[in-house]
Amino acid sequence: MTASVKSCALPETPLANVSAGLDACVHCGFCLQACPTYVNLEDENDSPRGRLVLMRRLLDGDIALDDPDVGAHLDRCLGCRACETACPSGVPYGELLEATRATMMPVRGLPLVARIVLGVFARESFLRPVLFAARVLRATQIPRALARILPSRLAFPFAMLASSSPHLRNALGLNALGRNERLRSRPRVLASEQRNSVALLYGCVMDGLFGHVNAATARVLLINGYDVTAAPQQKCCGALHAHAGDLDSARALARANIGAFELSNVQYIAINSAGCGAMIKQYAHLLRDDPAWASRAEQIAARARDISELLAAVGPTQGGALPLRVTHDPPCHQMHAQRVVKQPLAVLAAIPELTLIPLEDADQCCGSAGIYNLIEPDTSDAVLAPKLRCIAQTHATYVASGNPGCMMQLGAGLLRSGSTIRVVHPVELLDASYAMQHRNT
Ligand code: SF4
Ligand code: SF4
Repeated sequence: MTASVKSCALPETPLANVSAGLDACVHCGFCLQACPTYVNLEDENDSPRGRLVLMRRLLDGDIALDDPDVGAHLDRCLGCRACETACPSGVPYGELLEATRATMMPVRGLPLVARIVLGVFARESFLRPVLFAARVLRATQIPRALARILPSRLAFPFAMLASSSPHLRNALGLNALGRNERLRSRPRVLASEQRNSVALLYGCVMDGLFGHVNAATARVLLINGYDVTAAPQQKCCGALHAHAGDLDSARALARANIGAFELSNVQYIAINSAGCGAMIKQYAHLLRDDPAWASRAEQIAARARDISELLAAVGPTQGGALPLRVTHDPPCHQMHAQRVVKQPLAVLAAIPELTLIPLEDADQCCGSAGIYNLIEPDTSDAVLAPKLRCIAQTHATYVASGNPGCMMQLGAGLLRSGSTIRVVHPVELLDASYAMQHRNT
């Protein structure tokens, strides 16, 4: 007797195109304890293994694409990809999740909040004024006050905005930039191709709310032997769109960025936002079926580097002493999606007298996950709570994390809980260490 083989109920869909990845799952369950939604919700359908079974059943036609329960279980996935790191069989979970969401999107649509946010991020003419208004509001200190008095869910976006303020240099008495620092703060267009030339990905949230981190990144790169050039036509990397299943918008943004970075003609693209770095490294996969762009996407993806990779590769120059207690919370898209683990620690190790305190469960997600904290606030809170407890146990003064979403999620959680611990980007600490050395010489 021959076993019957089910035919694919969703031919020619994004999920069908990557379905080989589903076959790799042997249902061993090694991924379960790595999954923040399973650990917090204790439902097999909110685990990686359970979600893979749901994807298979969608593909086999056992469940309809608009089934609300299945949609809810997939919506609750953070896309943190901790399950990929834990999986001995190499199941490409992130790719399968994006493909499933893209397959379901035409039938289910997206929540209103997601539609608004993604629409704004896809259009610079909307995004720039929104981020400008956010900076103006932030400067009034109103968000900090509202974060403390409003009920939890209303307060959280204000707490996120307040926590994005530059604060490290002020706290260290490094208020004004020295002349050399000012000169090093902005990328410039180089006259000719240079050795170790890099273009900085500005990012949308990084450029709009963390301009001080971008400026610090440019200064730190120059001190470490990289010539930083501009890539002025670049746009949002498309990560938020891809994670939500809007692959058409993600591809359009990827093509625009490929064109912009080709023009810059640099060796590397320096990226200080882990989510954007993971996305640009995936451009080759995203555009693999587009004959006009596949090879161009491959070349740009191969040049993408997390800022910590570039610094660790040259052995970061030591700075001046910063006697601070710091703990490090690695972003999921740095640790699990890019497998960049040791390099951020090498950046922090270049700072004399900095005490690095290990963070328990550092490999667990903080619950930020792009716009997840806006559309799945309850699960996001549940995932954030244990992270805040672990941070509090370190008695650190600063948490270092290399992703704007994580910085705002952790910063908002700490602010709302009344903690005095602040969040910084690792590069800000190294930059401050260089400034301290300059001040002391
Ligand atoms: S995804 Fe990997 S770890 Fe999880 S059940 Fe499947 S094979 Fe096992
Ligand atoms: S991506 Fe993260 S939340 Fe989603 S199944 Fe994997 S471990 Fe769980």
